[in-house]
Parts: sequence; structure tokens; C-alpha cells
Amino acid sequence: MPRITEDVYYIPGQDAFMPDAHAYVLGKPSSQNLSLIDAGLIGKGGYKIQSIQKEGIELSAIKRIIMTHTHLDHIGCLAEILKQLPWAELWMHQLEADLLEQGDERTVYGMEMFKGMCQLQFGLKPGAFKFQVNRKLQGGETLDLGDTLWEVIHIPGHSMGSIGLYHRPMKILIPGDVVYADYAIGRFDLFSADSSELKKSLMRLAELEVDFLLPGHNQIVKGLPKGYILKTAHQWESYLR
Ligand SMILES: [Zn+2]
Ligand SMILES: [Zn+2]
Repeated sequence: MPRITEDVYYIPGQDAFMPDAHAYVLGKPSSQNLSLIDAGLIGKGGYKIQSIQKEGIELSAIKRIIMTHTHLDHIGCLAEILKQLPWAELWMHQLEADLLEQGDERTVYGMEMFKGMCQLQFGLKPGAFKFQVNRKLQGGETLDLGDTLWEVIHIPGHSMGSIGLYHRPMKILIPGDVVYADYAIGRFDLFSADSSELKKSLMRLAELEVDFLLPGHNQIVKGLPKGYILKTAHQWESYLR
């Protein structure tokens, strides 16, 4: 589990026949108040827990799991992980929290056809993704995560409750699936996606100074070129209306 900075660990996703999201652990290790960002695909919780333990981090130090959004490749193994961390709180944006609490899985699967396919493939029953959420985020909060401050930015478009986490002093951005390396962006055809919102969200992120880009998939980037997100937004502009 590579360490990105003193206070950020990276657990790379292990893509199978479907993508598995990267997870990150935030907070000063000495604080014993760490946060896991995202879970991953179904069946991909075990190695993430092991990666954390291999770093010498006690599981009891993980106090919460914060979801960038609730697509299956991010929330699939949340239940597996929570089983090992039953004390951990679950935080996410209110819009997706409200759905999950009602057992509404439309955001999780994104589309009906995919839902049927995944339920067959993984033996999932309806209601597999009903969770109680301890803290519903709106965007605009500054969170003290283990003696490091992270700003919550609501960046809908890929999904309606997508959030980014931004550490201003070190210029670290965790944008979920909104923007990736190589001028790629998240898809905007699934349930609750909205291309014009995605464009606005990209423009919002483009205002930030970002040195570390730590997305939900693919490469992570240190030393992000200046203007990278703006350039990405412009490249996609004609598709985002
Ligand atoms: Zn996604
Ligand atoms: Zn994803």
C-alpha cells in the first residue's frame, strides 16, 4: 500500500472483469482517527483490509468510511469491510444517502440491464445495498480527518451525489470518478448522471490548485500540470450539454 504523503495512503483497485475502485486512507497515523475513502467492487474488501494491516495500521484506528459516490465498483464491498470494522461510521453525500437508506439501488447499479447482470453474476439479492448513513454531507464542509483538513466539494454529473475531497495545503484532490488521468472523465449516462452538471463540476474543480490527483480508477498523478482539469473540461465540452 503506497504512501502518497505523510497522511495519505493509496490502496490500488484490483480490476477483475469489472473495475474495482481505488481506496485511500486519510489522516495522521498518530491521530488514531483515520478515514477510508471508498470501498470497492464486491469481493475486493479483504485485500484492502490486509493492505491496511500490512502498513501496521490498527483497524481500530479507522473511524469512518467516506464514499465519493455509491456506484457498485465503489460500494460493492462496503458490507464486507464494515463487517471487519463494525464501529466505523458511514459518511456520504445526502442525495445518495437518502436513496440507500430507503433501499433504492438505482445509483448503485446505474442501469436496469446492469443490475440484472450483476445480481446474477454475484448472487446479489434486492436490498443488498441498504445502509444507514451516519453523516450526510452537503458539500462545503471542512472535515477534520485525523488532524488533516479536507474540504468537501459537491460535484454532481457522474452521479448526483458525487463528492470530491480537497486538501488545500498539499493541493491533493480526490475526485471520485469525476476526472481521471489522461484527460479522461467519468461516464455520464447512468442513473442520476447529468452532463451539464458534470461540466459545471469540472469547471469548479478547475479552479483548484491541484498537485496530486487521486481518482477512483486508473493512474494517480503527482505533479499534475497546471490547467490540467480546465483542459480536460474543454476537451469534453462538446459532449457535455
Ligand atoms: Zn462511478
Ligand atoms: Zn468507479
